[in-house]
Amino acid sequence: MAETIGFIGLGIMGQPMAINLRKAGYEVWVHARRPESMQPVVAAGATACDSAREVAEHVSIIFTMVSDTPDVEAVILGENGIIEGVHTGSVVVDMSTISPTTTRVIADMLETQGVEMLDAPVSGGEKGAIDGALSIMVGGKAEVFERVKPMFEVMGKNIVHIGDNGAGQVTKACNQVVIAQAISAIGEAYLLAESNGVDPRKVREALMGGFAGSRALESHGERMLDGNYQPGFKAKLHQKDMRIVMQTAEEMGIALPGAAAVTQLINTAVGQGMGEDDSISIFRLQQKLSGVKVNKD
Ligand code: NAP
Repeated sequence: MAETIGFIGLGIMGQPMAINLRKAGYEVWVHARRPESMQPVVAAGATACDSAREVAEHVSIIFTMVSDTPDVEAVILGENGIIEGVHTGSVVVDMSTISPTTTRVIADMLETQGVEMLDAPVSGGEKGAIDGALSIMVGGKAEVFERVKPMFEVMGKNIVHIGDNGAGQVTKACNQVVIAQAISAIGEAYLLAESNGVDPRKVREALMGGFAGSRALESHGERMLDGNYQPGFKAKLHQKDMRIVMQTAEEMGIALPGAAAVTQLINTAVGQGMGEDDSISIFRLQQKLSGVKVNKD
């Protein structure tokens, strides 16, 4: 059966993802609150709808890529939401980063209507979305994963079926624990270098060839040195992800002291008005705390 696609949430990530699906030849139906978010996807041949419900009425696979847990709940379960228009046998694929616990609740509610769900959060940022090179971590039934896989392959490169519903979101939370602490660790290394009169750019160059070498050091590390805080990945979204991490850790009764510490820096960055800047903005605070200036920002 030829699948028809719905896409709801056309921001930094959703827009290029939906455009790539359209370019791959799929029929795509879209909805966003702001018409200007839909415009480039409609220009690529997608059909605009007035609500998530209307999208669901037209298609067999519905992707959501909105901001936070309450947004996913609103778009799927709310008034004029997907659940009001979706057909039995359709699949809802949430690619936003949200709570694993809520994901499992939504999956159960959809199942009562004969609708399958996958949680499929991503890593790789705006560039990965534009290039169709995202890393996609998927929770849900194996046969549903196989059905949606051709579409995942349009949007991503490293696509891993992790386990049952919620497993994709747990994996994404793990990713955010690593990335937040990597940014913080890189910032601390630069402070140590600069305060010792050692050029942080040379330090980065040397570290890239050893065990500390990483995509975070390559990409975030360079932008931190340049003082380039353009988003990318907004600090307010990283704050939201660390809230999910800390809430899940609390539910499990486990200690994540490193994640807790970097969360304090992210909270402060957002509190100081940097929420719309990239999450590497915590480097501004690290420099202030130690009174060491590394970049020209
Ligand atoms: P974004 O640019 O802020 O876009 C979010 C989109 O969701 C907007 O188009 C917005 O619609 C829509 N939306 C939000 N709440 C909604 C609601 N209640 N009802 C209907 N539409 C709603 O965010 P993004 O960077 O694309 O991120 C989307 C998700 O991907 C987030 O969960 C984020 O954590 C995750 N993510 C982002 C990145 C990244 O690098 N940016 C990387 C990996 C994962 P309107 O345009 O109509 O306002």
